Formats: sequence, structure tokens, C-alpha cells
Amino acid sequence: MALELYNTMSRSIEQFQPLDSGKVGFYGCGPTVYNYAHIGNLRAYVFQDTLTRALRFLGYDVAHVMNITDIGHLADDADDGEDKMVKTAEERGKSVLEIAEYYTDAFFRDTEQLNIIRPSVVCKATEHIPQMIDLIKRIEANGHTYMAGGNLYYDISTFPDYGKLARLDLNDLKAGARIEIDENKRNPYDFVLWFTKSKFENQALTWDSPWGRGYPGWHIECSAMSMYYLGEQFDIHTGGIDHIPIHHTNEIAQSEGATGKKWVYYWLHNEFLVMSKGKMSKSSGNFITLQTIIDEGYEALDYRYFLLGGHYRNQLAFSWESMNSAKNSRRSLLQRIKKLIESAGNTDFSSGDFTSLENTPASVYAERFKSHIEQDLNTPRALSELQALLRAPDISPEHILQGIALMDTVLGLNLITEARKSITEQNSAAASDEDNTFIEELVAERTEAKQTKNWTRADEIRNLLREKGIILEDTPSGTIWRRS
Ligand code: AMP
Ligand code: ZN
Repeated sequence: MALELYNTMSRSIEQFQPLDSGKVGFYGCGPTVYNYAHIGNLRAYVFQDTLTRALRFLGYDVAHVMNITDIGHLADDADDGEDKMVKTAEERGKSVLEIAEYYTDAFFRDTEQLNIIRPSVVCKATEHIPQMIDLIKRIEANGHTYMAGGNLYYDISTFPDYGKLARLDLNDLKAGARIEIDENKRNPYDFVLWFTKSKFENQALTWDSPWGRGYPGWHIECSAMSMYYLGEQFDIHTGGIDHIPIHHTNEIAQSEGATGKKWVYYWLHNEFLVMSKGKMSKSSGNFITLQTIIDEGYEALDYRYFLLGGHYRNQLAFSWESMNSAKNSRRSLLQRIKKLIESAGNTDFSSGDFTSLENTPASVYAERFKSHIEQDLNTPRALSELQALLRAPDISPEHILQGIALMDTVLGLNLITEARKSITEQNSAAASDEDNTFIEELVAERTEAKQTKNWTRADEIRNLLREKGIILEDTPSGTIWRRS
């Protein structure tokens, strides 16, 4: 079998063929850092991570690029509303860059806890303005732009394939017209490449450009940075499904409008995480972060496990009941693994690979696991295969664990390490129990020695314990001890 992926562009499953054999260029839209990521956003990044891990597992050399939006993303993905970054900065009395730094750090703390591998390149919009200006110049030179009201717009009527990704009906003008009608636009689907004069008199960050001092529209950063790091054509682009009709549609118009070439070969989109109470938003109190989940007594990896239990192209409903069942399943998985580690002894299973499994019965499970992954990243089935391997009655603990380590390179649940951690915790709890019993026995012996006026032994015990960092205190109700 070979890897098959659902391509939003063709609305069908396609066999994956990279442009350059053995290598994959992959761009995933990153966060707008004006707030914490909510758990819906984090679904998009666990998906990107699963894709990277799966490609590496299948032997590809992956260059994964992710942007950080620290400028230009308006409340609406089209050109309406306020700039999200500027608005937050004003509310908090901080600079845009301070806000960006704070939430970028928070974002990476979340992704680390979810065991998401850091992309090969993480690039900030504000650090790539020259690349954006160069790209806009090319788009302009190809006749796709017009100036109106001080802003530079993309004229979608000059790009016949505009809307092909989302299969937009461009005659449906109402769909293009959003919150506010921008009088400058010739067509409601036109969008801003460069703002100079606009409603944002308060824009803190501006740059000189051929169109005047100003700042870029949101979509241009992804076209400019992806091509800067991956070349004018690359293999895969991802984002949540909300990006199909506006953001990715505009990205294609910009990139292909500049180069005249097909830009991206496979478009992959993750479905939404939905809340039982409706859409996740700050105002509805439905805004759940990874920290909320941790505060409720779960671990970040319980959430990752929950996400892997759904296919990325299906909507997933979040509830605390489903978090409970994810937590319990993951615990029992770790328990099983722990027992296997105990019976297998001190072997290193952390570097899972196919060769270590060759000619063992575990390789059959690993092959099936691989084929689930190759079928458009079917993580629910892959997880079931892992469960089946764990329960295999006729396979040695060593081979099961090697298989688990291999599968976990895709799932990213840190299974062996987590199970080992719980063994260490259990051992240290047992060790301290033993320690406590020893101390209490000595304290009791000392009490008895004092009662029989055996002061030498009583002092001996006090000194012995002091050497171990234990302090004794004689009180009317008996001797108590504490660690110094
Ligand atoms: P943003 O920071 O708003 O640009 O969003 C970051 C990523 O999260 C984008 O790829 C969105 O498509 C994605 N996203 C937003 N909401 C959800 C959700 N509820 N479920 C899954 N992905 C989402
Ligand atoms: Zn993007």
C-alpha cells in the first residue's frame, strides 16, 4: 500500500506522490497570537503533528513550516472588523509585540504538553514583511491588483480559478459581502493585500512599501512565508475547514497569481471540535483551554488521546464524559504496558523501528497499523490495532513493547516513557513507605529505651536519625519526627 490522503481540492482520496521523491514540503497555518489557543485550535495542531509523524514513520524527510500571525488578522477572516492583535494590545495597555510574545510562549507550552513536535520552521509574520512586499509586487506586475481608498486590493476577476478550492459560486454576491461593505471593493470577494489608509488609524506597527506606509493584509503572510521556506511549489498545506472559503482561497489567488504555476498539490483540512453547548467562543463562556482541562484533573495527553480517537475529517464533540473515558482508556493502556515492561526487564524500547520487529509476530500488527495510517491517517483504527497488539496472547512482552514503541512514533502518546514514569513513581512511593516504617520502628525503640532509662541507646537512636536528616521532638503526647 501507499499513503492515500483526502485532497480538499479534488474532494477525493488521492495517492500521495511528493514532488521530490522521499521529501515532503508541508505548510500548516499557525495561530494568531492574541489569546490562548482553545482546545479546538489545538485539534488543528495535533492534526498537523499526526501528519508530520505519519510522514516520517513512512520514511519521508519532512520540512514542516508553521507561521505565527502577529499582525493583520482581522476579527473576520475577510477584511472586516478590528485587528485582533491591536485590539488586545489596547485593552491590556501593552504593545502588539508584547502580546504576541506572551501568547506565542503560551502556545508552545501547550503544544509541548501535548507532545507536539515543534515544526522545522516557525516563522513570524512581522519578521517577513520584505518577503510579503516582494510577493505583492509580483502579483501587481501580473495585473491582479488595484488601489482604492489608499489600500491595495486583489482583483479576483483577473484570476479565473478564484474559488475553486471552496467551489464558491461567485455570482452569489451576498456570500462575499460580510459584516461591513467596503465601498472600495469592485467585487465583494476582492481582498486587501496592503493597507495604508483604513479605519485603523491606531495601527501600531507599520512599514514603508511601494504603496505607502502601512501593513499587510492577513492572507499574504502564508503565501510569502510558505514559498520563501518551501519553494514556489510544495506538497501539502493544512488548516481547519474554516480556512477553505476565505483564507486558503485567497492564498491560492495570491501565490498562483504571482508565479503563474500550480502552488500546492494536497490540501488537507481538519474538521471542527464542537462543544455540546454550541460554538466555542470567549463570550459564551465556552472557551476551554488546555489549562482548563488540566485544572479539571486530566493530563494533556488524555486530550491528545481523545483527539486521536476521532478521524480528523469528522467533527468531534467535546464533553467531560468523553474526556473521562479517554482518561480511563489511557490509564489502562499504561497499566498494561507497565506490566509488560516489568516482565520484559530493562530493555530499551524507545527507538521503535520496523527492522527490530522483522520476522516477529508483532510485525503483522505493525503492518496493519501502517495500513490504517496510510488510509488517510485513520488514527481510531490505528489505536485499535495498538490495543489488539497489547492483548496479543502469543507474543513476547519484548516484541509487544517494540511494536508499541513503533506505533507510538505516530500517535505521540509517549506510552513507554509514561508507563516507566509510573513505575518509578510507584517505586519511590514504596521506598518512602519502607523508609517511614524504619523510622517509626526506631522512634518506638527509643521511647522504650527512655522508659527503661537506657539513655545510651536513646541517644544513639537520636544521633542515627539525625544523620539521616530526621529531627525528633519530644512532646507531652509522645515523640514526633520530621525531615529536616
Ligand atoms: P486561528 O488562531 O484562529 O487562526 O486558528 C488556528 C487554527 O485552529 C486554524 O487552523 C483554524 O482553522 C483552527 N480551528 C479554529 N477553531 C477550531 C475548532 N473548533 N476545531 C478545530 N479547529 C479549529
Ligand atoms: Zn494561512
